[in-house]
Amino acid sequence: MNASDSDSGARDVLVVGGGVAGLTAATFTARAGLDTLVLNGGESILRRNAHLENVPGCPAGVNPRLFAGLLEEQAARNGVAVAPGRVVRVDPRDSGFVVTTAAGDAYEARYVVAASWSDASYLPDDVSCRTAGSKTYVDEDGVGRISVAGLYAAGRLSEQYHQAVVAAGHGAAVGITLLHDSGTPFYNDWVTPDGYFTERGREVPPGCEEIDAAEQARRQAESRELMRDRFANPHPQTQRTHPSLVDDERGRVDESWEVGDD
Ligand SMILES: Cc1cc2nc3c(=O)[nH]c(=O)nc-3n(C[C@H](O)[C@H](O)[C@H](O)COP(=O)(O)OP(=O)(O)OC[C@H]3O[C@@H](n4cnc5c(N)ncnc54)[C@H](O)[C@@H]3O)c2cc1C
Repeated sequence: MNASDSDSGARDVLVVGGGVAGLTAATFTARAGLDTLVLNGGESILRRNAHLENVPGCPAGVNPRLFAGLLEEQAARNGVAVAPGRVVRVDPRDSGFVVTTAAGDAYEARYVVAASWSDASYLPDDVSCRTAGSKTYVDEDGVGRISVAGLYAAGRLSEQYHQAVVAAGHGAAVGITLLHDSGTPFYNDWVTPDGYFTERGREVPPGCEEIDAAEQARRQAESRELMRDRFANPHPQTQRTHPSLVDDERGRVDESWEVGDD
């Protein structure tokens, strides 16, 4: 399989699960130019958190539902298509996979990343897994490869530590592994100051970008404006908890916790 073959009608990458690991993996593959779709069949477990205090870069913590939304927004800005859909089957084909949702929609993709937290039920029978209590974990090689070539597992589903930064980091590693396996030209996903490579007599490596001071100022102004806006008001989504504790299928708690409902 080579991700540069784009005439079969299949997507390059389909990610199952739009949580921390899946959105991060998808952001890396899309930024490297692969046509990437995320199918998400629910909410990230992170939305149950009450205040997220250990993700890097947020000294006073951050609302976890705002953080989850920012991950979705970042993926979309980088070219990831995100669609609702609960995946119920992944079937290998000669040159990729057919992914089927509970609604009966079918998608073709050359590569599939399973990033569905605790749901491994849709994976082919020959995927090597292990069970621990009520949980199933997919066996992987540390950077996402599993027992079926072209299929990858990211985040908690592959028994990473149950922390957002670990899921994000593993998602990034899995995305980069997929890029290498697909033959996509990739060195590092870096944005550097103008001349960083070229003034040392080097080509800008694949995945990297050099920008000048004016472009840096434009991007930083846009970033300040966007973050000011997203952090300006309390996040409107109602606090979640474990669904067994409240009479609500999504685990929504008393509205007095936060300003809004959804
Ligand atoms: C109450 C609570 C508090 C927490 N607090 C913290 C904290 O303070 N700090 C911290 O670092 N971590 C915290 N965590 C842990 C953190 O949320 C997880 O480790 C992290 O979200 C795991 O990322 P993931 O991508 O593997 O799973 P998720 O982020 O849950 O993403 C999985 C996604 O896959 C979707 N999905 C599942 N099955 C399917 C399917 N068949 N088809 C399509 N989509 C599917 C789900 O709907 C979800 O959107 C907390 C967790 C809980 C429950």
